[in-house]
Amino acid sequence: MSRFWSPLLNQLTPYVPGEQLAVPHLVKLNTNENPYGPSPRALQAIADAAGDALRLYPDPHATALRTAIAQRHDLALSQVFVGNGSDEVLAHVFQALLNHGQPVLFPDVSYSFYPVYCKLYGIQARTVPLNERFEIEVAGYGGACGGVIIANPNAPTGLALPLADIERLLQLQPDRVVVIDEAYVDFGGESAVRLLGRHPNLLVVQTMSKSRGLAGLRVGYAMGSAELVQGLERVKESFNSYPVDRLAMAGATASFADEAWFEHTRQAVMRTRSALSTSLRELGFEVLPSSTNFVFARHPGFDAGWLAQGLKQRAILVRHFRLPRIEQFLRITVGTDEDCAALLAALRDLTATPA
Ligand code: PMP
Repeated sequence: MSRFWSPLLNQLTPYVPGEQLAVPHLVKLNTNENPYGPSPRALQAIADAAGDALRLYPDPHATALRTAIAQRHDLALSQVFVGNGSDEVLAHVFQALLNHGQPVLFPDVSYSFYPVYCKLYGIQARTVPLNERFEIEVAGYGGACGGVIIANPNAPTGLALPLADIERLLQLQPDRVVVIDEAYVDFGGESAVRLLGRHPNLLVVQTMSKSRGLAGLRVGYAMGSAELVQGLERVKESFNSYPVDRLAMAGATASFADEAWFEHTRQAVMRTRSALSTSLRELGFEVLPSSTNFVFARHPGFDAGWLAQGLKQRAILVRHFRLPRIEQFLRITVGTDEDCAALLAALRDLTATPA
């Protein structure tokens, strides 16, 4: 708190990112990174770009990267916006498209950055409860509002919403922007990109951080009608060019040229997820059906905070949110098979004797 800060800042509770821990042999399953990393072609492109060209400013229009995204999704260049991670893209989205002096709607259990952006930009937030199975009920998203944002698949639950529901949601709000945050869509969700032609109010946000293994590069993007993209560009134009740097543009662009790596690694994550879910259920956990690169699980006999602490003492990090409705859940990133074996061994140990 400071009297020199804007009142908005004084009311803001910042987002708390997943913890880092400097210990040897850390098993890091708390921030949904991809255990297989990026395509070797992306790494090569970054190395190639890290030469004399760094003397030069990056392309202010990010044309090569936006073209690669447009081609991958069968869109026009004018329908693609890029930023430093989807977190930055989402910041622009709240500022440019969701700030109408009316509350923005999102689920009560979802990505915890949404309320932070609302606070930061002075936007009212109205949460809509998930049903008893932790699913999004789109019927709750009608009526006057400033827009809607849904993560699909949702985080941290991992549950995916069928496209038919997204389409119903778009019809409920024809005059407001509906943002679908598809950070995890490549692990089993259905992308709403193919609804873009029919719905000028739809904006789909994706990231290179999860299925493309490039969380450290910070590249995310939004896809929508040229009208929505122009709105985002208005905000961005205050800084006169796309913010993505040369290395990030080179690596992200090259990643789209290696579909084999993308396919191979996302299939591996999904296979491990299935084995991990089965093993957790055998240990007595309830595991929600995941369409993401993490699982959301609770054990009826053990406190989630205690389990997370016990894992941490064994150099294994998972995510535990002290939030209503989900405080008994752990969110566990799908790592390599070895990571998951270490996790399961530790959980077997922790749950061996009743709490
Ligand atoms: N949306 C959701 C639902 C997420 O879980 C995350 C990752 N924490 C992001 C967006 C942001 O990802 P990034 O900024 O790395 O693109």
